[in-house]
Amino acid sequence: MISCSISGRVLWVELITFVKNIAMTDQTATLLSKSDLTHSDLITLLNAQGDLRKNLFARAAEIKNKCIGNKVYFRGLIEYSNICSKNCYYCGVRRENHKVERYQLTDEEVLEAAQFALDNHFASIVIQSGERSDHKFIDTIERLLCKIKKLSDSRLGITLSMGEQTEETYNRWFEAGAHRYLLRIETSDRELYSKLHPNDSIHDFDARIESLRALRRAGYQVGSGVMIGLPFQTIESLAHDLLFLKEIDIDMAGMGPFIEHKETPLYKYTGQLLPRQERFELSLKMVALLRILMKNINIAATTAMQTIDPQGREKSIMVGSNVIMPNLTPVKYRENYKLYEDKPCIDEEAEQCRSCLEARIHIAGNEIGWDEWGDSKHFALRMPDPDKVQLVDPKSINKVK
Ligand code: SF4
Repeated sequence: MISCSISGRVLWVELITFVKNIAMTDQTATLLSKSDLTHSDLITLLNAQGDLRKNLFARAAEIKNKCIGNKVYFRGLIEYSNICSKNCYYCGVRRENHKVERYQLTDEEVLEAAQFALDNHFASIVIQSGERSDHKFIDTIERLLCKIKKLSDSRLGITLSMGEQTEETYNRWFEAGAHRYLLRIETSDRELYSKLHPNDSIHDFDARIESLRALRRAGYQVGSGVMIGLPFQTIESLAHDLLFLKEIDIDMAGMGPFIEHKETPLYKYTGQLLPRQERFELSLKMVALLRILMKNINIAATTAMQTIDPQGREKSIMVGSNVIMPNLTPVKYRENYKLYEDKPCIDEEAEQCRSCLEARIHIAGNEIGWDEWGDSKHFALRMPDPDKVQLVDPKSINKVK
């Protein structure tokens, strides 16, 4: 187990050293001053070492501060259910992993977690689940969304992450109160995608892209992202991922290192993977480059970053991330929501998790946007229809009352 509690002088010294190292050097990094980075530029920067690497991180930090400020927003994470109809080759809760005990939270457990988020000034929650598209599931989520809205008097922002659904379902859940949706493409490389998923109609690359478009049409702030360090993945492919995310014009991103799970088909390639530390380093560069390419989106500092490096999320915040997702799932279920191995914080209560993250964010020189939704500025700028924009800050609701 990786402890989430901040302990030991070594951790602090390492973090302070990291902060110092990302200060911009005097050298002018011509590449980084370009207004548009090409595929070839991105490859160069993903391979950056020495001063170029330092300048890359410094440039991303500078852009973050200038374009969205130094606030980090909390989204309380509720891992609603690990029941999934799909069989992604990399995922620990895939349908054919019969070693996992399946669960689904009760309405009361979800509402309790939502209340905790509200009481602790998180302002937003993320409800994540394995993918299901049966009527019972769709109705249950719709009902839950209404209950959460009622419980919080619409003060809690709600992000969903429940995979590919029909446009009708996306519309229903939007109308019920969800306003952000995360759907990771995992890789924008069609050939690589086919090696990560079964070759059938429910794991179709084009359908996934169409889902991202449907989410935009429904009015959501749309998030996507990729895994970094997958078997068969190249630097060229990662550079393409960045351009893909820019092209589909995402509002939010969640990216992190690939971490293998022994009960999955991809585990047999473990010997061919980059060392974990290199996957982490590449992930940091991906975050920094995405911040440079898409200056005003929200980027999550993912838990997978912390799995490899105990200060992974803080480092991610320092090079471009501005969202963090403390886990509010009841502890008894967390062991069974392991999409990958060595997931941290699986036995910490929400209160401990909050205190730990608060301290970590301050060390990273950022402050927390308590009681603020912290919606994607990118989204607000791209929406032509103001009626669809739900950028309601809870504080402004309080003022109206
Ligand atoms: S990645 Fe998502 S859709 Fe794929 S098996 Fe895991 S939970 Fe299901």
